Amino acid sequence: MFKVEDIRKDFPILSRKVNGKPLVYFDNAATSQTPQQVIDVIVDYYSNYNANIHRGVHTLSQEATDLYEQARQKIQRHFNAKFSHEIILTSGTTHGINLVANGFSSLLKKGDEIIVSALEHHSNIVPWQMLCERTGASLKVIPMTQEGELEMAIYDTLLSKNTKLVFVNHISNALGTINPIETIIDKAHKVGAAVLIDGAQSCAHLKPDVQKLNVDFYVASAHKMCGPTGVGVLYGKEEWLKKLPPYQGGGEMIAEVTFEKTTYADLPHKFEAGTPNICGGIAFGAAIDYMNSIGFDAIASYENELLAYGTKQLLTIDGLKIYGTSEHKTSVISFNLDSIHPYDVGSILDKLGIAVRTGHHCAQPIMDYYKIPGTVRASFSFYNTKAEIDSLVEGVKKAKMMLS
Ligand code: PMP
Repeated sequence: MFKVEDIRKDFPILSRKVNGKPLVYFDNAATSQTPQQVIDVIVDYYSNYNANIHRGVHTLSQEATDLYEQARQKIQRHFNAKFSHEIILTSGTTHGINLVANGFSSLLKKGDEIIVSALEHHSNIVPWQMLCERTGASLKVIPMTQEGELEMAIYDTLLSKNTKLVFVNHISNALGTINPIETIIDKAHKVGAAVLIDGAQSCAHLKPDVQKLNVDFYVASAHKMCGPTGVGVLYGKEEWLKKLPPYQGGGEMIAEVTFEKTTYADLPHKFEAGTPNICGGIAFGAAIDYMNSIGFDAIASYENELLAYGTKQLLTIDGLKIYGTSEHKTSVISFNLDSIHPYDVGSILDKLGIAVRTGHHCAQPIMDYYKIPGTVRASFSFYNTKAEIDSLVEGVKKAKMMLS
């Protein structure tokens, strides 16, 4: 039974005050908060297990290695990967995307095409631009509509035998749109292209099944799903991970090193050079356990309720415009108030203890499309309440009064 008041007790930060007011945390799309269950795992790791992994014969090192590899298996089960060696632990979504983009440098040539969408985060645009510069491949963009959806009919016309890669986010961080990735993947495969899905936003709201999606690469960050910063996952199909060259060279990723020739370690270690974020990986596993203990169906249904309530209440404010009005969206509301700059609205909300994001949300092409400098973004999580949304609505009304 989903009881938000009980869930809130798991998050110590939710009882702190900001500027003398109870914190209302609505910046979940940037980073989620951390439950005590995950904090305890971090404390336990540094209190009892801290050691380097995969190389020590001593007990601490073996215990730390076991915990880290168990976390990899939890992540494998969560995303339903076929093999645990298809799970590469990274420093986050950005790292995973760059790893794949770098790997494709040796596989692309002039004339090849890469498709991205107009709804991407900069981290799913810039690495592909850099890849195009290195290889001579060209970048095509699936345009967006006023509602913040992808123009799927145009996607069809962009696909051809020259398409080698397609990159789309599962859910847009700026607007909350859930993209039709099943169709996108299917159609890309029909022309022989590989697909990478950026799951930085989706991982907080739903449980992707990478085998069912038949996706080639899927990336996510732990800090978006109640885990720590600085750790994330790249899922890659075994055949692709075997084909791609290593990203970084160093310890851990080698089999044999001589000055004449180095051979690389097997998966997943081939892509995990250097000492990883060991504690972070273990805590990522704990975060996945925590979210599954609440259940993704319960999370989605409660967050949808918050989204519907927040949308309705905010739209009672004269002059408030919401960007991203797709029927298929998660609990993100991006809005502006008349012609008031989003930064000014965000600053007043902060004085009231309400944390929202303001700006372009690392998605400047979306802002250019709407011809705005940015938006105020309130993103809800399963530990938020309707009473907090009421505070936001009151805060926005106050901001309007002060700034108009
Ligand atoms: N893609 C999307 C859709 C995101 O929302 C984010 C984080 N804002 C990223 C990529 C980058 O994630 P990270 O900073 O954790 O690498």
